[in-house]
Amino acid sequence: MRVGTVKEIKNHEYRVGLTPESAFELIAHGHEVWVEAGAGLGIGAKDAAYEAVGAKIIATAAEVFAGCDMIVKVKEPLAPERAMLREGQILYTYLHLAPDAAQTADLVKSGVTAIAYETVTGPGNSLPLLKPMSQVAGRMSVQAGATALEKANGGRGVLLGGVPGVMPGKVAVIGGGVVGFNAAQMAAGLGADVTILDRNPDVLERLGNHFEARAKTRFASTANLAESVAEADLVIGAVLIPGAAAPKLVTRDMLGTMKQGAVLVDVAIDQGGCFETSRATTHAEPIFTVDGIVHYCVANMPGAVARTSTYALNNVTLPHALAIADLGWKAALARNPHLAEGLNVHAGEVTYEAVARELGYAY
Ligand code: NAD
Repeated sequence: MRVGTVKEIKNHEYRVGLTPESAFELIAHGHEVWVEAGAGLGIGAKDAAYEAVGAKIIATAAEVFAGCDMIVKVKEPLAPERAMLREGQILYTYLHLAPDAAQTADLVKSGVTAIAYETVTGPGNSLPLLKPMSQVAGRMSVQAGATALEKANGGRGVLLGGVPGVMPGKVAVIGGGVVGFNAAQMAAGLGADVTILDRNPDVLERLGNHFEARAKTRFASTANLAESVAEADLVIGAVLIPGAAAPKLVTRDMLGTMKQGAVLVDVAIDQGGCFETSRATTHAEPIFTVDGIVHYCVANMPGAVARTSTYALNNVTLPHALAIADLGWKAALARNPHLAEGLNVHAGEVTYEAVARELGYAY
């Protein structure tokens, strides 16, 4: 099979669908890999690195789209890219179709076979192709919060780890899933005083067993939450109710109970945010202040660490890309029901129930 990857054209998107190492594996399996010139520059992978593993550098995205059986990307195709998709071609990338009627209509019209990273499942209803981005965002949330705590950024001037003889900063992590676990690991690693709040007793037990004395766990009742937020130097919002907007767990009134210059990092902002005063920000202007409380609400946190994020993403997308290329998409999906969950559009039809229902397609 001929597999292609192109330079992402979404604003400030530096990740790339295939690393040179992934290209090498596909080539080792007997496939051909076409890479648009400059596609890997955002992660420091020069064209020469792809050529060194046997990939072919192609001048334009149009030629890659026209010549390849499968396109491996990161973000959903934008309108100019959608215009280049063709019948029978496989598109393997993040799609997030449910809220995007225009994209869905274009994919249906194109006749493409579209496999979405975000709906590929794993054992126990997990979403393994989303997980690495939550890991990245969780780990980043602590460094973003630590920076926001600096005086020059409006923060209260607290070093999370403290120093010998001075108390460490207090970190409250709301939601102990993938983001929350990774945030707590980083904060505990810095030596901060960490409390993780969740409403799921199984999650609390697992975290308690893992962290032992390095982090406290606390049931996320309204009263406990209010107390932990009031005491914290840094609050990290990491809740998720699948398929729903994030609940507003910290109200504007609660900001008045917090220490001036404390920091809120709302990782759940991509689901609307879990603080009432949150609004989505960008890496160019990540923070703003409300009632003396610094807010960091970047919706695409992993984009800032494009190199780490690309490698983390390729670790989980490559095995499926290899299976699709080796077996053909039909046999690969028939063999792996988890991968089959990824099929969102095929031959002019929406093939993923939740998307079809949301956008009014027959299923
Ligand atoms: P997850 O499902 O692994 O964890 C969510 C946790 O929230 C669960 O443990 C759940 O029990 C808990 N929870 C739900 N309601 C709660 C409540 N009322 N109080 C306390 N805890 C509650 O999800 P995740 O992968 O950790 O993702 C968390 C959020 O981060 C999601 O909204 C996700 O989309 C977002 N995210 C954002 C970025 C970004 O760049 N901003 C990147 C990755 C993920």
